[in-house]
Amino acid sequence: MALRSRAHDQLVERVVARLPELPQPWSIEDFIDRLGSVRGRPILVWPYAMTSCLTGMWYPDTAVDHIFVTKAATGRYRDAVILHEACHVILKHGIDTCYDANLDILIRHSNLLEERIAEDFAITVLNVADQRAYLRGRSQLAQSFGARYA
Ligand SMILES: [Zn+2]
Repeated sequence: MALRSRAHDQLVERVVARLPELPQPWSIEDFIDRLGSVRGRPILVWPYAMTSCLTGMWYPDTAVDHIFVTKAATGRYRDAVILHEACHVILKHGIDTCYDANLDILIRHSNLLEERIAEDFAITVLNVADQRAYLRGRSQLAQSFGARYA
């Protein structure tokens, strides 16, 4: 069985294509703010000392979506964890819940397909942000030193 299908790839592409403009330079905080604004529902990111193998969690309350990210994640890895959870937010993933006594909340559990989609979404957004940063850098080089440097 293939890990990914064409429908899976198309779904990720459609979700990425409908995102708000990616911040340039890239900033996960700016991106999450923009995403919350576009959705009309704020998204708050909280560092959290995860006690299990979890790296991130999404918890929607009545007015706000909360994304918890492990304190152990930094840099691009942290961005990827947050983007993974943002994908769950956008697509409203989660088929069942369980109670987490540490957080005193119900945690949604996603299925394997949703996890793969969220992973691909995170990687795709970071790749697009990298590509735009590269093109922006080339454009700035061309403006500073002429087209032959771009
Ligand atoms: Zn997930």
